[in-house]
Amino acid sequence: MTPPTPTSSLTRLARTLLLALGIGGVLTCVHVTATGAQEDAGPVMGVVDLAALQDEAVRRLQEYIRINTVNPPGNEIRGAEFFARIFEAEGIPYEMVESAPGRGNIWARLEGGDEPALLLLHHMDVVPADARYWSTDPLSGEIRDGHIYGRGALDTKTSGILHLAGFLALHRSGVPLRRDVIFMATADEEAGGFYGAGWLVAHRPELFEDVGFLLNEGGGGGVVDGKVQFGVEVTQKVPYWLRLTTQGTPGHGSRPLVSYAATELIAALERLRTHRFEPRIIPAVAEHFRGFAGDHPEPWRSRFRDIAAAIREPGVLEELQAYDPGLHTLTRNTCSITRFGASEKINVISPEAWAEVDCRLLPDQDPEAWLREMRTVLGPEVEIKVLMGFNPAVSSTDTELYRVIREVTLETFPGANFVPQVQGGFTDSHFFRDLGIVSYGYNPVAVPQGDAGGVHGNDERISVENVRRGVTMTLQILERFAARRPAGPPDGS
Ligand SMILES: [Zn+2]
Repeated sequence: MTPPTPTSSLTRLARTLLLALGIGGVLTCVHVTATGAQEDAGPVMGVVDLAALQDEAVRRLQEYIRINTVNPPGNEIRGAEFFARIFEAEGIPYEMVESAPGRGNIWARLEGGDEPALLLLHHMDVVPADARYWSTDPLSGEIRDGHIYGRGALDTKTSGILHLAGFLALHRSGVPLRRDVIFMATADEEAGGFYGAGWLVAHRPELFEDVGFLLNEGGGGGVVDGKVQFGVEVTQKVPYWLRLTTQGTPGHGSRPLVSYAATELIAALERLRTHRFEPRIIPAVAEHFRGFAGDHPEPWRSRFRDIAAAIREPGVLEELQAYDPGLHTLTRNTCSITRFGASEKINVISPEAWAEVDCRLLPDQDPEAWLREMRTVLGPEVEIKVLMGFNPAVSSTDTELYRVIREVTLETFPGANFVPQVQGGFTDSHFFRDLGIVSYGYNPVAVPQGDAGGVHGNDERISVENVRRGVTMTLQILERFAARRPAGPPDGS
């Protein structure tokens, strides 16, 4: 048996080219002879017809985008049925449940060895799209100028199709796995996941008992000034959504009182608006800033290399909030005042006024301590109700899966920036970090940043090239992390 040589990556490239030319069948035979060079392709990559798998993924993404899963109301059962048809045709057992009428969830499992299972998770629902601002029907799945257009192209039907492609390739290859691999598509992420991932964790906990790792949306690649940067999301700010109410004597608008519910609320909101939540840089955030420092002009570049020191300088925190609100939010607890109301009628002083605030806590914040701070800021006259609050958690980067993702990403994009990432927003990953599952946000696509057509934007789109390359990367990650390597020959070479 030929030991691997430095030329092996060239061999792999040659194979990829040959497969792209549609002569994978020949290579399948070559693989069976199991020479060292072929072995290097890995047991799955060596037998799969990559070009055909990529074609299939592009076609399926178009089909998937055309399925209306706009949330509200969701109707994710249509997406679940789409996957069910595919699993049926492939002979893969699956389960499908509705958490509520129309709110479908589906999963399938490839059995492997005893190592902790890998869960490939994505949500089927998409946010609404206003067709007036699109250059195409938002659910068209149309290909134009090398891009697939449609709501969900980035968030997050592409990641579902990439998971599916990798999952099907593992199944079709028949290669033994050293861990179970689970494909799961859920409802309702865009509204908090309570009919999707959250529902499954609560009602079907046995599904996750042997799961050690989760791949989900939340991280991935961007292209800034021609430079590729990749982030793997390891933690996120923790949402705490609060409803605040005040009460007071009602009356007629023509006879103002000294103080009433609405004025009490306005005063409390003003205290919140001007309150300074103390900045605190957790290690994952420090690393995040350091990793992306090179993409920013001075003085930010120098400041981001040591963000903890930089924000101690007077005025820098406020400057950062103006420069990049998405980075500023990673430095402290925050609240946005988003909804409020009082009287139904203009001439009535209402007995009650209310506001809702969207607060996001640092990933290691003790929520009870923060709620005490909020009570002090808002004052005793304000009643606080927690509408939604999650537990904080960070996933370690010291895992085989993280190393495999890094390896595959940097082989595909040599010289790319690759860093662990903290998200200001949230995904379904928190449900699984709560269970102690190592959860990464990672999508193997590199999307131009600052471009129109982004997540939740108009003309949301993904390049065909990204989908095709994403299929290869997903397959490489699955192969290296889940496939059992063939036993070495007796001579041990
Ligand atoms: Zn999403």
